Amino acid sequence: MIKGYFTSGTSARSLPSEISFQGSLISFNGRLYRFDEVSISERIGNSTRYIRFPDGVEFETTDNDPIDLWLDGINEHRTLRKISLLERHLGLVIVVSVLMTAFLVFLVFDGIQRAAGWLAPTVPVEWRVTLSEGTEGWIDSSFEDTEIPILKQQELIKTFNTWTESSQYPYQLKFVRYEDTPNAFALPSGTIYVTDALIKMAESNEEVMAVLAHEIGHVEAHHGMEMVIESSFLSGLLLVILGDASQLDQLAVGLSTALLQNSYSRDKEREADAFAIDWLVKKGEDPQALVSIFEKFEAYEADELEPEKGDETEEATEPKDAGEPSKLEAILDVFSTHPATDERIQLMQERIRQIKQTQ
Ligand SMILES: [Zn+2]
Repeated sequence: MIKGYFTSGTSARSLPSEISFQGSLISFNGRLYRFDEVSISERIGNSTRYIRFPDGVEFETTDNDPIDLWLDGINEHRTLRKISLLERHLGLVIVVSVLMTAFLVFLVFDGIQRAAGWLAPTVPVEWRVTLSEGTEGWIDSSFEDTEIPILKQQELIKTFNTWTESSQYPYQLKFVRYEDTPNAFALPSGTIYVTDALIKMAESNEEVMAVLAHEIGHVEAHHGMEMVIESSFLSGLLLVILGDASQLDQLAVGLSTALLQNSYSRDKEREADAFAIDWLVKKGEDPQALVSIFEKFEAYEADELEPEKGDETEEATEPKDAGEPSKLEAILDVFSTHPATDERIQLMQERIRQIKQTQ
C-alpha cells in the first residue's frame, strides 16, 4: 500500500489516497489499471512523483521505493516477454541472420574482387614471372611432348612473336599434347600453352592465332593475376578466421596453384573474346577466324556430350602425371562450358558487325 494524494482532473483539491500493486496491475480507487495504461514520472531523488491515470486523475506520492521495486519487476516481465517473442519467431530470426551473414559474405567477396582488380595491374612483371614459374614447371613435366611438326610450330611462333614483341610481358608460345583436347591456357607471365588437338582442329594458322589473341587478352587484362590475388586473400582470410595465422607464410607457396584450380568468370571470358576481336582487327587479321574456331569448339562440345563418343576419348593420350585429372581439366581455358559457346559466338559476331559499321 502506497500512501499519497490524488487530484481529479476537474478540481484543484488534493485528497489523501492510496494505491497498491497486484502483479503488473495498479489498484486505485477500486479499479485495476495495466502498467502500460498509466504514466509514471521519473524519480528525482526523493521528490514527489506523479502517476497519471487514463481518466485524467493524478496520484502523487513521495514513497518512491515501492514504485521502483514494482517497475523493476515489470521490466523483468518485459524482458521475459521479449525472450518468448524471440522464441516464437525463431524461424524468422534464423532467416534474417542467414541473410545478413550472406550479405556480409557477399560484401567480403565483392571487396576482395574489387581489390584484386585494382592490385593486379600494379604487380611487377618480375613477380608475375616468379609466380608463374612453379605452374610452368608443373605443366612442362606433366604434359606429353608435342607432335606438331617443327615447321608448323615455327610459323605460329613467328606470328606470335611479332604480335607480342612490344609488350612489357615476356610472352612465350608453348605446345603441349593433352588427351586430344583442343584448348589453350595463359599464365600471368605471358607464357601461353596450346594443345596439339587445337592445332589439328583448326583449319588455318589464323584460327589458332585467334585463340591465342583470346589468351593474350587474359594476360593483358590481368585475369590470371586477379585470380591469384583473390585466392590468396581468401586463403589468408580463412586462415585468420580459423585462427591459424602461423600458416600465413605458406600462402605464397599455394599461390600458383590458384591458377590451376579456378576457371575465369563469364565476364572475363567475354572480355577476352572482345579483346581478341579488337586485337585481330588491329593486326590486320580477319576477326571471323575467332568465330570459325569457336564454331568448331561448339561442334566438339556437342560431340563430347554424346555418351558413347565420350567414352572412346578415354583411351586417348594420358598425361604423365595422371594422378590429378581434375587439376588438369581445370587448367584448360577456352573450351570451358561457361559462358555457353553459342552465346559467345553471338557476342563475337555482334562486335564484328559493330566494328565494320564504324569503319
Ligand atoms: Zn578464356
